[in-house]
Amino acid sequence: MIEELMNPWIRNLVPYSSARNEFSGNADVFLDANESWEGFDEGVNRYPDPSASLLRRKIEEVMGFPYQMTGIGNGSDEIIDILIRIFCRPEKDKIMIERPTYGTYSVFANTSGVGVVDVPLLPSLDLDVESVIDMVKKEKPKIVFICSPNNPTGRVYPLSEVKKIADENEGITVVDEAYADFAEDFESAFSLIAGNPRVCVLRTFSKAYGAAGARLGILIASGEIQKVFSKVKPPYNVSYPSLLAGMKALDGKKSVDKRIGEVRERRKDLSSFLSKLPYVRKVFPSSANFVLVRTLDASALYEYLLSKGIVVRNRSSEPLLENTLRITIGSESEMDRLKEALCEWKDY
Ligand code: PMP
Repeated sequence: MIEELMNPWIRNLVPYSSARNEFSGNADVFLDANESWEGFDEGVNRYPDPSASLLRRKIEEVMGFPYQMTGIGNGSDEIIDILIRIFCRPEKDKIMIERPTYGTYSVFANTSGVGVVDVPLLPSLDLDVESVIDMVKKEKPKIVFICSPNNPTGRVYPLSEVKKIADENEGITVVDEAYADFAEDFESAFSLIAGNPRVCVLRTFSKAYGAAGARLGILIASGEIQKVFSKVKPPYNVSYPSLLAGMKALDGKKSVDKRIGEVRERRKDLSSFLSKLPYVRKVFPSSANFVLVRTLDASALYEYLLSKGIVVRNRSSEPLLENTLRITIGSESEMDRLKEALCEWKDY
């Protein structure tokens, strides 16, 4: 069933067989991969493990996602790109998104010549489930992307709604849970995979795990999808230093949990601070590590903050998001700097 959804050339793909994959057994002299016998740092002279097995074992231990159901990408961005290349034929197939949402789904689709069907969110920024399902039936997208908690709105969509869409969708449903760790009482779409193997979940080390520079994303999916993902991804897509960084981040789960607590506290504090400012129209409730805020003149405020050395994200050009800024939760001193600058602003 899933195989039928794949592009024909992917179905028949003979994957690259890397030196690290070809041998099994015990060896301690490696003359198979044209590497250097020494390097500038320990371990980097060798190619990394293509299947990232140590990291995936630790992911199972710490996060609970079964080893057989995980695959590692060079950031979740790479996974998004690869999934589109597995399932969507250029100039024929489409993906579906619910805008406003994370931008790379449509950019990666466009770079592959794949169309984008866009179903707007409701004015409340909730999912328009009925319209999504109507469009799924009409347009038959190969992949439906659902971002929950959504970037840039911070909104979590109820799992029952995600399930309803995934069940109606005959194609793949990718649920991007990059910000899940910051949500309270979050129900992951991981639980849907057992009953619907067309569901894929994305997680990342870039947010709560504090390793954006390591570029580590996790694809959680059924065995059939993992099998094809490992064939299509570049053989050494995740570097050795990145794998080590991921292991370290998981070893430091206690400090991750501490940071998540701090983000939730500061998110609450910043939201209430913002809502009292005379030029703020609305603070959107957020389950992520950012707050979306509507102001009188977002571009003027953006420029003002920049003049104070503070960069936020202007989301005003997105549908439904006129005059909004997205502000990431930072350290305590960064939040203090931001608040001080916001208090001083008089030109609204
Ligand atoms: N998904 C969402 C919703 C994001 O906001 C981002 C990054 N901002 C990503 C994925 C990309 O994550 P990564 O760093 O793992 O590529």
